[in-house]
Amino acid sequence: MSESARSFDVLVIGSGASGLAAAVSAERAGARVALATKGSLQANNSSKAQGGIQASFGADDSPEQHAQDIWRSSHETADMRLVEVLTGDAQSAIHWLEELGVEFTREDGGYRLAKCGGASAKRLLQVGDRTGHAITKQLRDAWEAGSGTSFLNAPLKELSEVDGLWRARVGEQTIDAGTIVLAAGGRCYAEAERRGELSTNHPNATGEVTRIAVDLGAEARDLDALQYHPNGGAWPSNMQGYSIPETTRAYGAVLVNAEGEEFTDSLGPRDAVSQAIFDEVEKGNGVTTPDGRPAVYLDTTRIPESDADVSLPYMLRRYRGAGIDPLREKIYTYPVLHYQNGGLVIDTDAETTLEGVYACGEIAGGTHGRNRMMGNSLLECVVFGRRAGRNALEKARS
Ligand SMILES: Cc1cc2nc3c(=O)[nH]c(=O)nc-3n(C[C@H](O)[C@H](O)[C@H](O)COP(=O)(O)OP(=O)(O)OC[C@H]3O[C@@H](n4cnc5c(N)ncnc54)[C@H](O)[C@@H]3O)c2cc1C
Repeated sequence: MSESARSFDVLVIGSGASGLAAAVSAERAGARVALATKGSLQANNSSKAQGGIQASFGADDSPEQHAQDIWRSSHETADMRLVEVLTGDAQSAIHWLEELGVEFTREDGGYRLAKCGGASAKRLLQVGDRTGHAITKQLRDAWEAGSGTSFLNAPLKELSEVDGLWRARVGEQTIDAGTIVLAAGGRCYAEAERRGELSTNHPNATGEVTRIAVDLGAEARDLDALQYHPNGGAWPSNMQGYSIPETTRAYGAVLVNAEGEEFTDSLGPRDAVSQAIFDEVEKGNGVTTPDGRPAVYLDTTRIPESDADVSLPYMLRRYRGAGIDPLREKIYTYPVLHYQNGGLVIDTDAETTLEGVYACGEIAGGTHGRNRMMGNSLLECVVFGRRAGRNALEKARS
């Protein structure tokens, strides 16, 4: 170890839901953990997630059924070993979050479950429409209450293997660690900028950590498969790039063209719904926003007020604050760049093809194949974040 390097068992890169889940799990298992992140702990995509998190709690549902829905939605490209872990660990992930203080919305003595695109049963747990905010807040509180060390404004710049340890240059610091957990998210913000398009993503979603790992020889898959969120806000201008929660459609909103006709199954898989919108506009059946952008309408007036009040309060507040009441008028929408489906190849322990380097969350590939279902990313962050944290500690100590 170099004299100036600080030393830890496990170094986690990134402070979204996956990084925090890994850091908390490793720290609670007794590791000396460092977490280095590009900005503040709150600066990430996870905090922006609204819709919810999937887990098969319904009486007509099971982990196997959830897994089959993923297989179908991924067009049979997902890694089923990872999918079985994801759906099999889902209930325990939810209970772990509850132990940390997350309070999922309940009704009739159980969870309030919504049906999301591509799902065969109601399976989406929510915390109002700020699920990601609620989950990351409790994870952050748990991390900050422990003995771990945070390095803020400390982007990973270099990673190398030195004397059997991993040496990382994060900001101005040099850190040596037995194992590394890469949890730096996807790259859709940078990709949208490159294409001149809108994105739902946080500006820190730029993808350089994937590149660092790939340059070291880590295998990646499906990196070209980027997902459009079917319902980006298209108007008013301060809602452009806002991801209108898919739960609007789960609670009755439908997509309609200029003539007010439904042109697709509004609850189809994401890629199918986005493509249907692109096609409808291409055929000349779309509408144009006041600033000249292509769009169709999302008819949100069909959402019962009672459902909107419980499950969409944040979205209502945002639109009403911008002068539009979605329960009284249709809103303009168009697909926006949203999610990196692929990423670093991992095994069921969340280890990449580089020994001692783990990956979890959006930076990892395989769990969703080439097309993710909504609500499975937060779940992936928690399920594989916990695995990554625990297994990284075990390996660091072996
Ligand atoms: C608007 C929006 C709504 C969404 N809604 C849902 C939903 O309802 N349900 C669902 O399941 N999913 C949803 N998603 C997707 C999901 O939230 C994300 O895919 C997931 O939270 C990603 O978590 P993560 O921990 O992998 O990455 P992130 O939360 O993006 O965290 C990545 C972290 O890495 C840091 N970082 C980046 N580069 C570096 C670097 N070089 N060095 C150090 N740190 C770095 C970032 O600053 C950040 O802290 C939504 C996403 C968005 C954007």
